[in-house]
Amino acid sequence: MKKISLIIPCYNEEEALPIFYKEAERVMSALDYDYEYLFIDDGSRDGTLSVIREFSQKDAHVKYIAFSRNFGKEAAMFAGFCNVSGDYAVVMDADLQDPPSLLPKMLEILETQPYDSVATRRVSRKGEPPLRSFFARKFYQIINRISDTDIMDGARDFRLMKREMVDAIVSMCERNRFSKGIFGWIGFRTYWLSYENVERVAGNTKWSFWKLFAYALDGIINFSQAPLSIASWFGLGMTGFSFIMLLVIVFRRLIMGDPVAGWASTVCVIIFIGGLQLFCLGIIGQYIAKIYMETKQRPHYIAAESNIDNAKMIK
Ligand code: UDP
Ligand code: MG
Repeated sequence: MKKISLIIPCYNEEEALPIFYKEAERVMSALDYDYEYLFIDDGSRDGTLSVIREFSQKDAHVKYIAFSRNFGKEAAMFAGFCNVSGDYAVVMDADLQDPPSLLPKMLEILETQPYDSVATRRVSRKGEPPLRSFFARKFYQIINRISDTDIMDGARDFRLMKREMVDAIVSMCERNRFSKGIFGWIGFRTYWLSYENVERVAGNTKWSFWKLFAYALDGIINFSQAPLSIASWFGLGMTGFSFIMLLVIVFRRLIMGDPVAGWASTVCVIIFIGGLQLFCLGIIGQYIAKIYMETKQRPHYIAAESNIDNAKMIK
């Protein structure tokens, strides 16, 4: 019998977890597959870990890894991929925004059609602040234009995949992880399943607007080198422009005998170019910061507790 592993990153989800578990159990027990839950407690400050421990005492399908602190959803997903044993793996949020009821359909597609993974995307962003939707849409437009990795608008991390894909993800050991980019980068044949946005069942979102904004910038820097070339293009443009201006000034002085006045305009130009240089330096700085973190080779996560034999506690 084939086995499915459900990877569930949890950060302060004590309210949502029991609801999630009940719903997932309803779906999984009806399926003709072996299965396991792998809950990753991402350093929660509430009772999440005790809730998970309780599940695991009653149900042998429940495995868990508890981090020593909050490492973020990306690290939690990575820990999941490193420790699952199933033929299929799927990442799901603990708040039921990734409905388990879609799983049977996703499995059927993988079994009957030539695909390696079934990914999901939200077709609507119902229930989301308009400003957030606007920036999210812009983000997908920009990153798809400047990166050669395809990232689908509205794509969720909710994705069922075959073992080969899991192994490929684990083999990508970069520290600055951006899963939506990684999924696209490794390739494989992906079926896109659309569904209406569902609001979280309990608890609060862990993402403030600015956290999301920083995450989006991270995604761009991790999967595109285009911002780096901005500096060169600005530089080239400026040089061309100033050369033309120089010709104009020489022309006015020699032919029309008209001395060019105006220190104010000069100061403006100096400030403008100074700002531009700092901006470009900042972009380069962002990349250097990433390189710096990568070269440290720090682990992605550190686990403090687990009920899996031979769990990878530090990776
Ligand atoms: N999450 C996590 N670590 C974090 C933040 C979030 O493991 O630092 C988990 C969270 O428990 C949830 C999933 O990632 O299962 C998605 O988080 P959330 O629902 O807050 O994000 P949203 O759906 O609002 O984008
Ligand atoms: Mg959510």
